[in-house]
Amino acid sequence: MSEWVLLGSVAAALYVLECCVWLDRNAWCCFQIPVKGAWTAASAASLPGTDGLGAALSDPFRLSGAIVECDPWPFAISPDGLTSEVIFPPGHNARYSEYISFEQIDLIEVQFGDVRINGKTFLQLGSSLMAENASRLIQGVHALPLQERSAAIAAEVSRSFDLSAIKRRWSAFRRDTRVLKWCSIAGFAYTFVVVPTCLFWWGPLQSWLWLAVGLFGLSTTIAILFFRVHARLYPTLPYDRWVQSVSMVLFPIASIRSVDRLSRELLRWNNPMAVVPVMCSPEDSLAVLRRLWFDLSGTAKEEIASQPSSPIAKCSEWFRQTIEGEAEATLGRLGADIFRSPSQDDPSMTSYCPRCQVQYRDLTPKCADCPSIDLVRFENLDRREGGAASTLTVSHAG
Ligand SMILES: [Zn+2]
Repeated sequence: MSEWVLLGSVAAALYVLECCVWLDRNAWCCFQIPVKGAWTAASAASLPGTDGLGAALSDPFRLSGAIVECDPWPFAISPDGLTSEVIFPPGHNARYSEYISFEQIDLIEVQFGDVRINGKTFLQLGSSLMAENASRLIQGVHALPLQERSAAIAAEVSRSFDLSAIKRRWSAFRRDTRVLKWCSIAGFAYTFVVVPTCLFWWGPLQSWLWLAVGLFGLSTTIAILFFRVHARLYPTLPYDRWVQSVSMVLFPIASIRSVDRLSRELLRWNNPMAVVPVMCSPEDSLAVLRRLWFDLSGTAKEEIASQPSSPIAKCSEWFRQTIEGEAEATLGRLGADIFRSPSQDDPSMTSYCPRCQVQYRDLTPKCADCPSIDLVRFENLDRREGGAASTLTVSHAG
């Protein structure tokens, strides 16, 4: 029997690993916290992991889609051309970025999460969906005359910030995956309740074959349902659909997290400044919005300004300003006052960081965690600006 206990422990460990989602360090995600179940947001850089990847552990007991990724576009595009320079989040070295003007583009292709231009890999996006969307945007802008390109790029940026569309897409997703969710719950109950009970009651030798047939039947059912929903949500990604469906049949524990596999990419093309307020609580959202805004309007702006004049810098700044304009409008729609000061923790605190709101009692001019941000002194504040953090007006997913 001890071998079967060991097998059960391995199955549980594999299941927890399946709940872990590995994200590129530039990515953001919203996920349901284990046990609590509440949605929270995090940048992959702030999560445990390796130099290039961060791991988010979503709630193992939530099977209705416990994680969504929302990446800032890892490239910049302007009416003149595009660059692989990442401006948001800042901290990248432009020396390794490439630039190409639209006049130089002859051929745009998508290949396994990469966008290839003129036969050469230009953007490594690590996601078929991101690559498809980026390719569609580049092709659309490329086909337009110069004077119409600004409006086309701005319209796509605006769509990536569309709060109502994000809420509608998430609601439709919950509706479309309802049957799949219940099948996943059945898969969870079968694997972790029915199988151990039968093994204990009738003994492994008498029951293992029937249990294996049941497990295979359940995972195949989930894989078929997954295939159908995936085809509706991601019609242009047949390769991903087949690979994931087959992997679920071959590895039944993975099928229990099938809805996560669908939810992860659902809002990925949308900006985190729009996704986080829809998915997370107002308090969490305000902290994330504050941080993202200072990165975009402060750190990224300074980094681009510090570069020598070049097509990359010009393209990056044009794109940054377009994103900044949309981010500002989104903050207005949310009613999010990200500049409001925190309440003083105690009277000895003399200043605070406007990005992370950590308070300081010495005369340090800069925040320890945000080196490019100047601290704000409490006594310099207008009385009307003081007080508790404001709340957002967008309802969260719950
Ligand atoms: Zn700070």
